[in-house]
Amino acid sequence: MKELIKGNEIAAKYKDALKLKIDALKLQHKRMPKLVVILVGEDAASLVYTKGKAKACEEVGILNETLQFKKTMSELELLKCINTLNENEDVDGILVQLPLPKHINAMKIIQSINPNKDVDGFHPINVGKLYLQQETFVPCTPKGIMALLDAIQIHDLSGYHALIIGRSNIVGKPIAQLLLQKNATVSVAHSKTIHLKELCRQADIVVACVGIAKFVKKDFLKPHAIVIDVGINRLDDHSLCGDVDFEAACEVVDYITPVPKGVGPMTIAMLLENTLQAYRLSNR
Ligand code: NAP
Repeated sequence: MKELIKGNEIAAKYKDALKLKIDALKLQHKRMPKLVVILVGEDAASLVYTKGKAKACEEVGILNETLQFKKTMSELELLKCINTLNENEDVDGILVQLPLPKHINAMKIIQSINPNKDVDGFHPINVGKLYLQQETFVPCTPKGIMALLDAIQIHDLSGYHALIIGRSNIVGKPIAQLLLQKNATVSVAHSKTIHLKELCRQADIVVACVGIAKFVKKDFLKPHAIVIDVGINRLDDHSLCGDVDFEAACEVVDYITPVPKGVGPMTIAMLLENTLQAYRLSNR
């Protein structure tokens, strides 16, 4: 392997740059950017993620608030809460932590967020803008993956075949679009794909966003491939592992992201970037 893509170190550089920009706002006595995270229920992973987001905001100087509600909260109550935040000029970014309890229609909630405050980039207007290559909020995980490729000096993907394993709205589909915009030839695999291993062996870039521990084996990978492991899976011993069989993959690939300390920290760094972008949008 040529290089381990250390997402935590790359994310730290993005956060340092953001902190400088936010410090400058403070020196000018400007209003500070603010992110509000809404958490409904007590899903253990969601609690960890929201705490991580709050901590990262504090590190760079973004004001933040986590509104935590009981899992019995009604859809109407949540819509009212979002409406209040939409109208609050001190709030730049609104993030609803997913998944939501089953009695709440997640898409209805996402659509109720002011698109100019939708720092997750999940609102249909922002999704459409991404596809049309218009200025928008790029979803944090795919944006972080593109930043990782930049960090290893891979800017133009002409001639690269990229395979994405997974087609979710939050990772698989938007990363396919972003890679396409950088001239990669893109394939998207999913649970109904046949001959996945053979397809994978043709790929110069593999983005694994399946949600199954060690799903991508060494013999799926083309020698010298670049592997981006998005998966976060908790094993029986409570340790975390990605969607790629990391140790074995390291024997064949040129670049790979570890789990943890790979894509995860980049997702958070990009959320901070998107919050500053929302702030600038509201101050235009
Ligand atoms: P998701 O919505 O559950 O989507 C999983 C995708 O994998 C689906 O498209 C599914 O296909 C596909 N899939 C499932 N089994 C498969 C199989 N046997 N062969 C091929 N494809 C298969 O997951 P997600 O939200 O995209 O997240 C994926 C993983 O990334 C999870 O582990 C999640 O925790 C992690 N994640 C990490 C970050 C981060 O910051 N690092 C951010 C987001 C998510 P179908 O569409 O056909 O069902």
